[in-house]
Amino acid sequence: MALLIQDILYLPMTGSHELKRGSIRVEGQRIVAIGDHIVPTWGDEIISGHDKCALPGFVNCHCHAAMSMLRGYGEALPLGAWLAKVQPAEKALTAEDFFWGALLAQMEMLKAGITCYADMYFDEAAAYWAMDESGIRAVLADGLTDLCDKGEAALKATLQWIDSTKDDLEGKISFAIAPHAVYSCSGPYLKEVAAAARSRDLPLHLHIAETEKEQEDCLAATGQRVLPYLDGLGVLTGKVLAAHMIHLKEEEFEITRERDIRIAHCPQSNMKLASGIFPYPEYQKRGVVVGLATDGPASNNDLDMLEEMRTASLLQKVANGDPTLLKPYEALHMATAGGARALFLDDRIGTLEVGKKADITLLSLRRPHFYPRNEKNSLLSHLAFCAKSGDVHTVIVNGKVRVRDGQCVDIDEGRVYHEIQQRAAQFWQRQRE
Ligand SMILES: [Zn+2]
Repeated sequence: MALLIQDILYLPMTGSHELKRGSIRVEGQRIVAIGDHIVPTWGDEIISGHDKCALPGFVNCHCHAAMSMLRGYGEALPLGAWLAKVQPAEKALTAEDFFWGALLAQMEMLKAGITCYADMYFDEAAAYWAMDESGIRAVLADGLTDLCDKGEAALKATLQWIDSTKDDLEGKISFAIAPHAVYSCSGPYLKEVAAAARSRDLPLHLHIAETEKEQEDCLAATGQRVLPYLDGLGVLTGKVLAAHMIHLKEEEFEITRERDIRIAHCPQSNMKLASGIFPYPEYQKRGVVVGLATDGPASNNDLDMLEEMRTASLLQKVANGDPTLLKPYEALHMATAGGARALFLDDRIGTLEVGKKADITLLSLRRPHFYPRNEKNSLLSHLAFCAKSGDVHTVIVNGKVRVRDGQCVDIDEGRVYHEIQQRAAQFWQRQRE
């Protein structure tokens, strides 16, 4: 059966800043027609486009989804102290906690129009089972470290899991390999992990240059700053998705460009932990691919790409004293097509085009903050800077409707809230004992 989104305003994110009006036809997992003169055929499921706007589903390039179990934990701390508080708590989470935490986060993301996210966390098998229920698309990666003596075993286990799972969930699942950071992985381990990623043509997903302290510590331990150090290890020669990338010097910006490192920019997390200001103009002038991300729910504290768009833009304007930075289309691009490129998935998602997977978010425009509007220009800035996650009406992932009228279709939302409350109470009880 086909799906027809009829007579709707849409922004395909293929380069033109102009909103178009027409219909979008979906058959199976893909968009098969888009534009005007598309007529319904017998048996089509019709979605009315009246007073709505279609965008490519938002792509959240860096998350630790099941950390939703720790939402609100570790407030008002810088990164080092925050990690010292959060990491012992994470060890007390059970496999069931990881599942329900991941499902809660996926539900929150879908209801906010996010159709794909890149995750790095423990027990990604739990995220996989949550995906099976929610229907979201994701790039999963077990966070790896050899600070303890389990680094080798963890790498072996993750590779076995990837090899046995890669064709599941109608292709909605893909994988990355995620050494956590230079301060939590030794040089030999980083080399080994990167070689495993290259041999499978998988992206390496890691935190890079989040704080000045990370740079100082790396310099003290290795005699080099983070980017030259990683480059010297040969870690940056394959596909690399780097979260944060805040504290870089000229030579490191050049390494980023030369190695075509893709960036997950997490403005609200960086602001919350006072990590620093993302040097967007340096990347912009070098043509580096930047996608937008929320980071985990314990350092944000929500999973809302519409907020991230607005924050990213306002932050660049005030930090650089330049109101022309990160204009509406650029912000929307970072949250959609740019994010898809950052995740090396732009051959299948990120734009509304024939042949692409049907990952589509429909916003209701019947809201006070979308008036007055002019479809030729002002609506673009309304979408980037006024839209709220509560405006999300319908979300389609891989050709299937997953959110209808703002509610998840496949998830029993009441049950998730109940389970999360029960499990959180048990978790806090264990923490007190
Ligand atoms: Zn992170």
